[in-house]
Amino acid sequence: MRNRRAALAAITAAASLALTLSACGQSGSGGSKEKSGSAKGGTIGIAMPTKSSERWINDGNNVVKNLQAKGYKTKLVYGEDDPSTQVSQIENLITQGVKGLIIAAIDNKSLNNVLREAASAKIPVIAYDRLILGTKNVDYYASFDNEKVGVLQGTYIAHKLGLDSGKKGPFNIELFAGSNDDNNTKYFFGGAMSVLQPYIDKKELVVKSGQTQLNQVTTLRWDGATAQKRMEDILTSTYSSAKVDAVLSPYDGISIGILAALKSDGYGSSGKPLPVITGQDAELASVKSIISGQQTQTVYKDTRKLADVAATMVDDSLNGKKPQVNDTKTYNNGTKVVPAMLLQPVSVDKTNYEDVLVKGGYYTDAQLK
Ligand code: BGC
Repeated sequence: MRNRRAALAAITAAASLALTLSACGQSGSGGSKEKSGSAKGGTIGIAMPTKSSERWINDGNNVVKNLQAKGYKTKLVYGEDDPSTQVSQIENLITQGVKGLIIAAIDNKSLNNVLREAASAKIPVIAYDRLILGTKNVDYYASFDNEKVGVLQGTYIAHKLGLDSGKKGPFNIELFAGSNDDNNTKYFFGGAMSVLQPYIDKKELVVKSGQTQLNQVTTLRWDGATAQKRMEDILTSTYSSAKVDAVLSPYDGISIGILAALKSDGYGSSGKPLPVITGQDAELASVKSIISGQQTQTVYKDTRKLADVAATMVDDSLNGKKPQVNDTKTYNNGTKVVPAMLLQPVSVDKTNYEDVLVKGGYYTDAQLK
């Protein structure tokens, strides 16, 4: 099996190298300190999900920068949200002899076979931001406190509507969640619902569409257009004589789609203000939208820090050091609990973006103009 796979992979190596090169634009750069045979200066493969979202572009660039500073070469690939493309990209990275892998999975369950190959080649694997499920061949997990992301979104909605200070509503809310093949989705949604469900139970929050279960509200591959269509359908079917007061959105790209649906339904005018609408990732367009009073909130996750954690994990693993972790209980991938280093997310809105994002050096004022 292994030999047949290796032969196949060799046949496609040239094509794959071209794919890798064109996909990353940074392949093989850096690493001037390479010593043959030593871990330092070896090449680390980085597989990211998509370039359609700014956060993953930043993640990829930051991981590359961190690894190069530690003396590694890098090969960065983007799977454009297609699970099978990501599998073959990782297969190719293994064939090309990478020493370590940092992977943000597109489909958390599709990587088992290719990670078996990584394990037989003794390549340490770091799950980046998204846990990889159903395999023992994932060594560490670098992410944020994903449940807290949802708690921050839910808390923000409750606070903005005044529910936490005694207002009883009832307020109408609609719920959106992320992709069902992303392990983070259930943590984000669960965290948000831990805050919102008690208000729903008291009927202070009403989900007029009736769509409250995770499997009714997911958005495949986090696609903004899919979310826009669902919001349009809900507005047509349920809100002809009612208005939406809040929308739980798990990600900025989804919020943009939801906002488009709301605006074409007349929201955003003085008689019909936009609802409270959350998000995640503090992407540039959404921070601008927050400043101009459209999206209300986002959850900022500093991808510079995450990249640093993942690069350090791979470096430590290759140098016989135990990577630092701060969670050895939460992230059971169905086969084992993957030791994790979880960073803290931060809620950002119009009142604190300057402090958090500009003073924190994530954006300049000029970028936000
Ligand atoms: C990440 C989020 C991101 C989403 C869509 C999730 O796995 O944790 O930060 O918004 O993917 O790209």
